[in-house]
Amino acid sequence: MNMFDPKHWRGCEGILDHLHEFLNQRELAPADVEDIRRHLKECPPCGDRVQFEERLLERLKESDPCQCPERLRSRIKSLLDLG
Ligand SMILES: [Zn+2]
Repeated sequence: MNMFDPKHWRGCEGILDHLHEFLNQRELAPADVEDIRRHLKECPPCGDRVQFEERLLERLKESDPCQCPERLRSRIKSLLDLG
């Protein structure tokens, strides 16, 4: 069964539905990725949307996700040591 019927890619809705799969490069066949890329080139609103999401993901990656949990863990550890 093909969930990603190629004709759906032509519509903006289909693109935005699979935006996260596209950005994460997951669960999409190379041909599907190609179809999305082609749509983004021909459709500025979708291109802008994807660029926005991409920048958001980049910023999330740049901020250190380990810092908070690490600090929290050592704090919990010190609390346990005290108890
Ligand atoms: Zn579009």
